[in-house]
Amino acid sequence: MSHAILVVGSINLDLILHCSRLPVEGEALVGERYEYIPGGKGANQAVAAARAGAEVTFVGRTGADSNGRLLRASLAPERVDLSLLSEDPDYPTGLAAIIVEEEGTNRIIVYPGANGHLPAADIERAFERPFDGVIANLEISDEAIYALGRLSAAHGVPLILDAGPARPFDFGPLRGLTVISPNESEASFIAGVGCATEAQAVEAARRIRAATGAGLALLKLGARGSLLFADNLCELVPAFPIRAVDPTAAGDAFTAAFLVRYLESGDLRAAARFANAAGALACLTAGAQPSLPTRAAVEEFLASRR
Ligand code: ADP
Repeated sequence: MSHAILVVGSINLDLILHCSRLPVEGEALVGERYEYIPGGKGANQAVAAARAGAEVTFVGRTGADSNGRLLRASLAPERVDLSLLSEDPDYPTGLAAIIVEEEGTNRIIVYPGANGHLPAADIERAFERPFDGVIANLEISDEAIYALGRLSAAHGVPLILDAGPARPFDFGPLRGLTVISPNESEASFIAGVGCATEAQAVEAARRIRAATGAGLALLKLGARGSLLFADNLCELVPAFPIRAVDPTAAGDAFTAAFLVRYLESGDLRAAARFANAAGALACLTAGAQPSLPTRAAVEEFLASRR
């Protein structure tokens, strides 16, 4: 039986502009091509959880504009309930402008727009239904995150908070956090120490648990895999060796897959292994949502690596 998961988070249109190099000040450079791709950590995680096999309800906010309508239409083919995806009358849809240079380095400017105005009332409305688990990220308003912490705890539903993007955030009022899941740079931002070695990552995880009050710190360590850190648990679950093409949305695939598998099995290690497989698969295809793997793809990948 599939589980009901609530995903609360950002929804953005990504404008990806490819050019040979960055323009210098005052220069108008001719670019090579551009594309618009649906993104935002929340929308990515909702799609990832649905493809991993959950019944997903997404709570997010776009502007009342054409980009918002485009994003809504892009989610229509996915098994995601969009009845709580609202439109803000005053702020436009979130946009990420991403400039990619020939050698693959990128520079990103994110304009949060409507994402920053997700009202706590929308979260309260969501909790009129029962959920088995909740996923959120820091790309939305503090008010919405705190409401989610309060309601998840009150309903006894596990809450996994993706710690991206790295930004100042007061974890103090956030009660009942089950899992905090940063990537390497977010972990360093919260912990104030790097994660270059395993010993450093463990120290970062210890500090992150202390700073956030989360039951489990789940660090995403790219090609090294993931680290589970809780009371009486400290285990690095190795990544699957692959030839990565584009790591965009690997973390979103990972977080969603982890929660889905954990709800099914109650086994943290099995969930981390499953999530490592989903993250690895997301690295094999370019883009955010196009690269998020289906359940069948993750299972086939795991069977081939046994
Ligand atoms: P984010 O996308 O948030 O920066 P990561 O880059 O750590 O997060 O990726 C999330 C997960 O995806 C990792 O914990 C790992 O399981 C998997 N992954 C990412 N990059 C690679 C890689 N190069 N090889 C194998 N697995 C990877």
